[in-house]
Amino acid sequence: MTINIYNTLTRKKEKFAPIEPNRVKMYVCGPTVYNYIHIGNARPAIVFDTVRRYFEYKGYQVDYVLNFTDVDDKLINAAKELGEEVPTIAERFIQAYKEDVGVLGVKEAVHHPRVTETMDDIISFISTLIDKGHAYEADGDVYFKTRSFDHYGKLSHQSIDELRSGARIQVGEKKQDPLDFALWKQTKDGEIAWDSPWGKGRPGWHIECSAMAKKYLGDTIDIHAGGQDLTFPHHENEIAQSEAANGTSFANYWMHNGYINIDNEKMSKSLGNFVLAHDLIQKHDPKVLRFFMLSVHYRNPINFSDALLESAKNSYDRIENALTNLEHRKEASVNLADDNQQWLDKINALQQQFEQEMDDDFNTANAIAVIFDLVKEANVYLKSDHTHVAVIDTFIDTLTAWLEVLGIPQTQEEELLDEEIEALIEKRIEARKNKDFQLADKIRDDLKERNIILEDTPQGTRWKRG
Ligand SMILES: [Zn+2]
Repeated sequence: MTINIYNTLTRKKEKFAPIEPNRVKMYVCGPTVYNYIHIGNARPAIVFDTVRRYFEYKGYQVDYVLNFTDVDDKLINAAKELGEEVPTIAERFIQAYKEDVGVLGVKEAVHHPRVTETMDDIISFISTLIDKGHAYEADGDVYFKTRSFDHYGKLSHQSIDELRSGARIQVGEKKQDPLDFALWKQTKDGEIAWDSPWGKGRPGWHIECSAMAKKYLGDTIDIHAGGQDLTFPHHENEIAQSEAANGTSFANYWMHNGYINIDNEKMSKSLGNFVLAHDLIQKHDPKVLRFFMLSVHYRNPINFSDALLESAKNSYDRIENALTNLEHRKEASVNLADDNQQWLDKINALQQQFEQEMDDDFNTANAIAVIFDLVKEANVYLKSDHTHVAVIDTFIDTLTAWLEVLGIPQTQEEELLDEEIEALIEKRIEARKNKDFQLADKIRDDLKERNIILEDTPQGTRWKRG
């Protein structure tokens, strides 16, 4: 079955057709790293990680790129306030981001490009735009000539005239048209800067994503994603830059996640309802937080409150309880049941349904409803006197696989490193030499539990991951 994605560009659900078979080139706009992230930033991290996980579950390889904006006005101001250097602050909050979203089950991107490490590509991208007549230099700054790109406004569905009426040239800006936007900004004295053909300066915000997507994924990518608030102007500007420079379509599918409200109000610093993910994960089980975030479809707004989080915890506990009960019964199961096939068919039908919901624009809200249907069936099954280990195992495996797709994995154990495995194999050889076969067998069994298979050959012990 194909995955259908709601595409902001066409405002329709479309069948996903990748550029290359079984591969997804996916770019997600990442954070500006001048502070801890708030839960509004945690939502795209979780949502698009789930999209990635589902693609992987369906057998796709996902080239997942998420950038770090490690130089911009916010960082420069933070550096002034704290009396620190920009790179020091950036490094600190990149690590904090990775830790916080890591705890929330978000996998590391395949590439995490930073502006400061992509400077050559950014400068050459801007030069191409100037050469092609889509950008101009104005006294050390460089601007994109918005009217030179015919399709400006196509993502946010606005006409250039509508946009024109709302645009102003701010004091100190050297642009020719209010719609033009900065690609390169001349440095003020003492600020962090890079050499360029236009003098010392730093990039505007939008250009980094165009340059990074091109560098890591090519001229045309499958999916570009980010928060709804980025649709305009950020993503509109990315399209203009990339399509003007590359002469081809930039992204085939545009995905945007909805906002988060706190106690039914918009989150803002002035309202004092600003919630940092960093603080939340100290107070609440990160698995419940992730479960809560996914219990609403990603395009809908989410309302966040302690009461809602508490009720999410109660729901989530029902899933974990079912799993624990299934695990317990596994040991006590006998092979007497004769209604196995009927139960396996029921689980299989739910499996189809789970995938149908996820195929439908990653509808995690409905997929979670299917999880509860499975939990209900499992609880009915557990009441029966005759349970079969094959059915119990299928319940467990199905539930575990679904939770893995949602990024709520149940295995706490870290994957063993190669060196650790080899050290254990050495220990087992030692044990066998000392005729301590009990220890030797225990090591083999422990490794097997962690999916490491040993094979004794005349040349010695070989191992592989199961
Ligand atoms: Zn971006």
